[in-house]
Amino acid sequence: MSDVLVLEGLVKRFGTHTVLDGVDLAVREGETVAIIGPSGSGKSTLLRCVNRLEEPSGGRVLFQGEPVVPGPKLRAMRARMGMVFQHFNLFTHMSVLANVIEAPVQVLKLSRTEAEARGRDLLARVGLADKSQAFPSQLSGGQKQRVAIARSLAMEPKLLLLDEITSALDPELVGEVLQVIRALAKQGMTMLIVTHEMGFAREVADRVVFMDGGRIVEEGLPDALFARPRSDRLQLFLRAVL
Ligand code: ADP
Ligand code: MG
Repeated sequence: MSDVLVLEGLVKRFGTHTVLDGVDLAVREGETVAIIGPSGSGKSTLLRCVNRLEEPSGGRVLFQGEPVVPGPKLRAMRARMGMVFQHFNLFTHMSVLANVIEAPVQVLKLSRTEAEARGRDLLARVGLADKSQAFPSQLSGGQKQRVAIARSLAMEPKLLLLDEITSALDPELVGEVLQVIRALAKQGMTMLIVTHEMGFAREVADRVVFMDGGRIVEEGLPDALFARPRSDRLQLFLRAVL
């Protein structure tokens, strides 16, 4: 299968601080890749370089075979990459359904009727069919995060970038969000997932990447990587978090 995303020697510096130190990674169509690693290892920066919320200092990002660079194509490329963050960033003054249809109407130029029909389907997919008219303030954290996922899916992304999407949630709400991601993985969505949920990474990912100090230290199949970490750094990390 073809690569949806390719990172080649990706480097990011903030001043003299090298945060990404030559990252090579490819994500194939339909693949779910989980990125794990200690705080500050560069995971969020890596995701942000993919859709160019951060400008890389070196190396290349290829999305569907094309370099992600500033210019006329960037907006359209970004529209095909969904990103969901730890904090949901919903529009608080809009209903749930209005949040979901905003970008399809504004960017994809769908009619309101069509966008609403699709939006309702998506809300049903994330288990929120009955919440379309609610406002974000009336929802739990887990529900808000599922709205944020539905909002990303409304753009029919070819790649989903998920950055610690459960880490701001109360523990009892984590499962309902992970369930949505698990279903997306089964349906063949291509995803790059930064997570500190090791059990989830092991279960849902086709491949797990361990980052430390701005580099990929180790990567492999989930069971092998978790059961038989080769590097000292991954062994130490897993001992600390498991
Ligand atoms: P992670 O997501 O793995 O916790 P980050 O990618 O957020 O790591 O951060 C990696 C490093 O880059 C950290 O040392 C962080 O302080 C630094 N960093 C991230 N964003 C910026 C920024 N905008 N300016 C300066 N330093 C940053
Ligand atoms: Mg982070």
